[in-house]
Amino acid sequence: MTNRIFNFSAGPATLPVEVLEEARDAMLSLGNTGIGILEHSHRGKAFMEVRDQTEAVIRELGNIPSNYHVLFIQGGASLQFAMLPMNLLKQGETADYLITGSWAKLAAKEAKAFGTVHNACSSEDRNFCYIPKTCSFSSNPAYVHYTSNNTIFGTQFVAPPTVPAGVPLICDASSDIFSRPIDVSQHAMIYAGAQKNLGPAGVTLVIVRDDLVQRGPDNIPTMLRYKTFSENQSLYNTGPTFGMFLVGRVCEWIKRNGGLTAMAARNEAKAKVLYDFLEQSKLFKATADRDSRSLMNVTFVTGNAELDDKCIKEATKAGFDGLKGHRSVGGLRASIYNAFPPAGVDALVQFLREFEAKNS
Ligand SMILES: *Cc1c(COP(=O)(O)O)cnc(C)c1O
Repeated sequence: MTNRIFNFSAGPATLPVEVLEEARDAMLSLGNTGIGILEHSHRGKAFMEVRDQTEAVIRELGNIPSNYHVLFIQGGASLQFAMLPMNLLKQGETADYLITGSWAKLAAKEAKAFGTVHNACSSEDRNFCYIPKTCSFSSNPAYVHYTSNNTIFGTQFVAPPTVPAGVPLICDASSDIFSRPIDVSQHAMIYAGAQKNLGPAGVTLVIVRDDLVQRGPDNIPTMLRYKTFSENQSLYNTGPTFGMFLVGRVCEWIKRNGGLTAMAARNEAKAKVLYDFLEQSKLFKATADRDSRSLMNVTFVTGNAELDDKCIKEATKAGFDGLKGHRSVGGLRASIYNAFPPAGVDALVQFLREFEAKNS
């Protein structure tokens, strides 16, 4: 593994080496079955054991109550933007969205095809560099949707927003799922594309309360009903078998490393190294407000686009990949999800320190 470099990509992102090694072995033979994970029937006993183990470790890590389903769906988080209102928003109803970034906006846009969307808050006035402190909800929302971590803008909710009693709270947790303890019972549904904190692209974890699943209409395509997935263990058709396998291995890795509380401590420590450096730097500046900063995606700039580019180019040469910020923010972004090693953050800070000394 000596040829691996530090990959700060926002997603697909760094996975634990131990898990990649397990996947490499399973590619040729899952356990001692003599058949690789990619080649096993999704209906066979060997794969069903994998599926069940993956669900079990997810339930254990997330302390998920028994009235919630754990589903594995394809189409990414982006399909959930549409599937959610298709199942839970009727014509004439209103859904409330917290507009804290580009993904939140895209989620809200999809809902407009099915009902009315009310923006409960927005931080667009300052290019999404903060999490609004207050929301103004509509009178009787079908649900409230928020994005727990704003991958592009480097902001994160410290805690879930408080919503009116009885209103289902839905969370797009694509970029911070299982990076810290999460109170599932506070939510009606949590979804996350796997490719940031959980595994490979191609599978989306959906944790959804049973009453919402039952509420879904039957006059929508079979593959777009939550019920189809809940009633068939997510295997109505050929599911994303490799993704389900790998998500299970990543969750076992999280468990071996102390679970979500330990992940939170590790992530806080990693992010602190970077933010502490940015705080004292005379060249670099974090783009997000201090009280809204993400522990997963650290966004920063020099204030000079040419210097940003130079820094990214030199960083790439030095073995730090994926640091270019999203075009809507510019500058640099270091994505340091669960599996990103602390040593990579230390090395980046060392590099930035040297870059600053040479360029100021
Ligand atoms: C990456 C991301 C998405 C989009 O995920 P896809 O799986 O590519 O559809 C949605 N929401 C958030 C918060 C993200 O970080």
